Amino acid sequence: MSQRRVLIIGSGNAALCAGIAALEAGASATMLEKADADEAGGNSRYTAGAMRFAYASRAEILRLLQDTSDERLQRTDFGSYPAERFAADLLAFNAGRPLSDLQRRLIEDSYATLLWLTQHNVRFEPIYSRQSFERDGRHVFWGGLTLAARGEGDGLVDAELEEYQRLGGLIRYRANCLKLLHSDGRICGVEFTTPQGIESASCDAVVLACGGFEASRELRGRLMGELWQYAKVRGTPHNTGSGLTMALELGAKLNGQPDACHAVPMDRDMPDYGNMALPFVERKNYRKICYFLGVMLNANGARFVDEGENFRNYTYAQFGRAILEQPGRFAWQIFDAKVTPLLYEEYRFEHASFVEADTLESLVQQLDDVDTAAALKTLYEYNAAVDEQLDFDPSALDGKCTRALSLNKSNWANKLDTPPFRAYPVTCGITFTYAGLEVDASAAVLSEYGDRISGLFACGELVGGIFVAGYPGGSGLTSGAVFGRLAGRSAAQG
Ligand SMILES: Cc1cc2nc3c(=O)[nH]c(=O)nc-3n(C[C@H](O)[C@H](O)[C@H](O)COP(=O)(O)OP(=O)(O)OC[C@H]3O[C@@H](n4cnc5c(N)ncnc54)[C@H](O)[C@@H]3O)c2cc1C
Repeated sequence: MSQRRVLIIGSGNAALCAGIAALEAGASATMLEKADADEAGGNSRYTAGAMRFAYASRAEILRLLQDTSDERLQRTDFGSYPAERFAADLLAFNAGRPLSDLQRRLIEDSYATLLWLTQHNVRFEPIYSRQSFERDGRHVFWGGLTLAARGEGDGLVDAELEEYQRLGGLIRYRANCLKLLHSDGRICGVEFTTPQGIESASCDAVVLACGGFEASRELRGRLMGELWQYAKVRGTPHNTGSGLTMALELGAKLNGQPDACHAVPMDRDMPDYGNMALPFVERKNYRKICYFLGVMLNANGARFVDEGENFRNYTYAQFGRAILEQPGRFAWQIFDAKVTPLLYEEYRFEHASFVEADTLESLVQQLDDVDTAAALKTLYEYNAAVDEQLDFDPSALDGKCTRALSLNKSNWANKLDTPPFRAYPVTCGITFTYAGLEVDASAAVLSEYGDRISGLFACGELVGGIFVAGYPGGSGLTSGAVFGRLAGRSAAQG
């Protein structure tokens, strides 16, 4: 039997996992990537490399670590993150729906897929800086997110790309795929533009792994609503929805609410798009997600979310939308000196925008575009409502709350009483869209009628129905890896 030829569109984490799996299953693999080599790797390169997976014990974590020489490991409590908790975390964002087959597959294959990645050159490390707090001399992990790829997103993509090429995979840059070719009822190739003109490539199967439509202002406005035109784009400018468009033209089915997305509080002064030309630290440090340690105020000087509703892993992806919906589409995050040492590195970033003052009165005067009198009233009322009987513990849902406000803060409510006070201006940055193609358990793309489009597979951001109304942090890369591996294997096996 002749070797099957698999074409993969995109070159991020999902595409690379599909490529490695296809090669492992005996097919040949060629990747077509729209960006040039410097900008390839998609949103995956922008990530912290954090990956969520179900694990039963410390031993399972240690099995994923190649380097166990870090002396902190002896003083680390990883706890466990059983499949049931992963399921509960996804269910909490499912708008009342039961888990879908795809979601169950994501959970069930998550640990095995990370193990598979370790067998393919990817190295993992505990995320001490953002996912653990020190308690009684021990590092205690919280929130179910424990490991990240060494070197974050860049490290992950570089390791996967090296493995893909070691196994014989090819990659062509500056190949912008525009059209799927089909013959006798099955996909047989792809048409793409290059700097030299239009070209085509033939194949036995195509894996679409070219991201969502978050970077298309036009599609955001049309599919998500006018407001979304104004969101900043956190990642690559290249994910403009062409995979979705190509497949929908062939009768593929859209899965998910078009306006559902991952969107995060970002520095109000960040550039409109993520930009690979920026140093990595700048790309990632525009994010501002420590709102749980303080409060957020809108232009009317009012709070508008429960900043301590849950661990920030479970709220940060929804709070970007909440900010976009505020007047002027911005907010200010306010902290006092008690918590500034706990703020993530992104708050100490040299380009971070913030104002500082020794009193709340002078702080609010510096909040651009805000009703200062109302802001001060909100801060006084907040301070008066903090329950001081309870202890503050950022490593747990500490229940330290405010009482009797119309919008209470449920955890980590400290009085803002220790100068200097700081305020950071934030806006909404869209990370990725949740709606996408409907696929079956083999990652085959389904048509409007529910049958497979022969020879067409999809993975990564482009797959719809995995995230519905929210997102437990670190699930995007895992989803790309789980369904990328499946898609590559299925495409290779026909
Ligand atoms: C700033 C940021 C931080 C994040 N942090 C995390 C994290 O720590 N953990 C986590 O799990 N998730 C994180 N995410 C989400 C994560 O990036 C995505 O879920 C995941 O990377 C998507 O992978 P993918 O392979 O589907 O898409 P991508 O990695 O975006 O790859 C898509 C590729 O397709 C290419 N492409 C697009 N159109 C075409 C076309 N027409 N022809 C050819 N190529 C095309 C693009 O250039 C790109 O290279 C983060 C996202 C961002 C933006």
